[in-house]
Amino acid sequence: MNVHTGDIPGGQGASWAKAGTQPSIAIIGAGMSGIAAVVKLRKAGYTNLTVYEKTDKVGGTWRENQYPGLSCDVPSRWYSFSFALTPDWTHRFSYGPEIQAYMEKTATDFGVTEIVKFNTPVTDLTYEAPQWRLTTGDGDVVHYDLVISATGVLHKPVLPNIEGIETFAGDKFHTARWDHSVPLEGRNVGIIGTGSTAAQIVGAITHKVGTMNVFQRTPQWMIPLPQKEYSSFWKGLLRRFPVLQKVIYNFYRNTMVKNFGAATTGDQDKLKDIQEACTKHLEEAVADPALRARLTPDYQAACKRLIFCSDFYPAITSDNANLITDGIKRIVPEGIETEDGQVHKLDVLVLATGFDAAAFILPTKVTGENGRDLGAAWDGSPRAHRAVGVPGFPNFWMLEGPTGPVGNLSLITVSEHQIDYIIAMLDKMRGEGLAAIAPKQASFEAYNAAMHERVPSTVWASGGCSSWYFDKSGVPNLYPFPPEQYLADMHDPDFSEYRLIANISDADELQGVA
Ligand code: NAP
Repeated sequence: MNVHTGDIPGGQGASWAKAGTQPSIAIIGAGMSGIAAVVKLRKAGYTNLTVYEKTDKVGGTWRENQYPGLSCDVPSRWYSFSFALTPDWTHRFSYGPEIQAYMEKTATDFGVTEIVKFNTPVTDLTYEAPQWRLTTGDGDVVHYDLVISATGVLHKPVLPNIEGIETFAGDKFHTARWDHSVPLEGRNVGIIGTGSTAAQIVGAITHKVGTMNVFQRTPQWMIPLPQKEYSSFWKGLLRRFPVLQKVIYNFYRNTMVKNFGAATTGDQDKLKDIQEACTKHLEEAVADPALRARLTPDYQAACKRLIFCSDFYPAITSDNANLITDGIKRIVPEGIETEDGQVHKLDVLVLATGFDAAAFILPTKVTGENGRDLGAAWDGSPRAHRAVGVPGFPNFWMLEGPTGPVGNLSLITVSEHQIDYIIAMLDKMRGEGLAAIAPKQASFEAYNAAMHERVPSTVWASGGCSSWYFDKSGVPNLYPFPPEQYLADMHDPDFSEYRLIANISDADELQGVA
């Protein structure tokens, strides 16, 4: 085991802010949020940064998901870093490999890649006031003044708990672990799930497989995806007049945040528009009334995360596709047996069954003040103050943490606002020579209580569905107010919501201060 005391003058226990030195900052994860954090922190003058990445590449979700048809249903010109707009997107909605290439290029262009410790998972974080002791999978130990978790929201695949799943004799994998060595051409493929991922896969591969068997537990509303290829004239124009890139970025940002955000958080007129668009899409794309009935959800559109997809209905109505709505009884070596006793023979079984939405930084063990364990504190219902901090965990910040805005938004925008907020915390520490900052317990409780109160007026709670948005206690675990409010609030931290710890000797005394 290698033990370092970090490269902060004064070593462990010193307050960088009081000493007037650079804080040492560990960023966990080299995905979209981690890349943005490095670029923005450096720009703000914080340069002692180390990124820990469990795999051998940057890119996060875009590195991890490589299934056929992978694309982003948020417009490319908005699903971009505000500091790295590009005229080069080939489509209005980018395909996965192009986004991954963009992540890698941005990380290289901005000198992020060179500070990433690849193949280095962080297994343990323990607060040793005012620093964090970080332990890697190799047993290395380093102390940091600040830790930023950029581990993403959905990264832990969920495998369905179905009897006999281990007995399946064909090829089987989760969508986030796509096995490209498995041939699909002419084979009988089954897919469990009908979320955003399954819709893209079914749309992309049905034409080449033998039979496509979609096992649907719950139908989904789908709105058409207005895909478009960008012409070279258009790209040239944006290259010549880069200001246009910013104008278009702002246009998409404002339109999506205002309209979609308002719809999900209570604007009934906008919800009605979404419902009508989905219903029209289904009616126009699926002529067979019996099939259409089986594809029609009994809940409100946008209750589950809305699927933007124009390829699913043409695929499911093709001759080689079967929509199976009888419940799954068990998985057998030859395929899937449904409740009606039929065995659907399969060569390949794709599990499009989603992710553990309560994971965030877990399973990394995070221990805060007084031995407080983050996983135990959350107990399956992750909560945070303004989605970035947790009481009892000073100088520990999260990007895309619990209760932040998610759904059909550009999470890049959300992350960038959260990074600016964390930078404001660092500036405060530097300005006042503070040792640590953590949310006050009372502020955290008031913030979460206000969200709890608001939740029933969102379509996620009132729309009559269940989804990964709900936590263990049945509460949608996302920001229930219009997202523009969140983005505006993150511009200007209210420091009265935080314990501003000047000296570590004061910390115990301040522990209970609300
Ligand atoms: P998901 O939305 O959680 O969908 C999982 C699907 O699996 C659901 O249809 C679910 O049915 C079904 N399922 C789970 N367990 C099952 C079981 N035991 N038996 C039968 N069916 C079962 O997962 P996802 O499609 O991977 O999408 C997750 C999220 O990733 C999305 O909501 C989105 O935020 C993100 N995503 C984004 C994009 C994009 O373009 N931006 C693309 C893909 C994914 P029930 O509905 O009945 O639970």
